[in-house]
Amino acid sequence: MTKSHSELAVANYLYANTRDDADGCWIWTGPMGTVGYGQTKFRNPSRGPEFAHRLAFITWVRPLVKGEYVLHHCDKKACINPDHLWPGTQKDNIRDAIAKGRFVNPPLIRGESHPKHKLNAIDIPVIRRRISSGEEDAAIAKDYRVCPATIWQVRKRNSWNWVEATA
Ligand SMILES: [Zn+2]
Repeated sequence: MTKSHSELAVANYLYANTRDDADGCWIWTGPMGTVGYGQTKFRNPSRGPEFAHRLAFITWVRPLVKGEYVLHHCDKKACINPDHLWPGTQKDNIRDAIAKGRFVNPPLIRGESHPKHKLNAIDIPVIRRRISSGEEDAAIAKDYRVCPATIWQVRKRNSWNWVEATA
């Protein structure tokens, strides 16, 4: 499919405003919003800014339908690598799942082949429960094959606050 001039301009703009990090993330170096996500007025200078990661998803993956969120596999809000982004209506999904008790005993994720496996949204309520029951970060991290710092971030609520906010 041939991209239009304006689509190519957006793609070039987005890519030019990133730096690569060791995890393969494309970390946004352009304007930031107050919540840790890149925000840009590139497409509509006269209107409000849009989120850089959403614009990246639209540019490289597909258009979004109303109500879709763009979420990060890598858990880095500033990352706009389209491979790290996935669409979802997570707030509703999570709220609904918690209400129905579906998070009580989910299977642990084991043998994940991806070398940098990160936490998924579905893991967070379970991890929060384990944290509040007094388990060590290292023990939880081992089960999920992530580093203890990742669990610590959940503990400190630096990440995944959107799950907490809807719980
Ligand atoms: Zn990333």
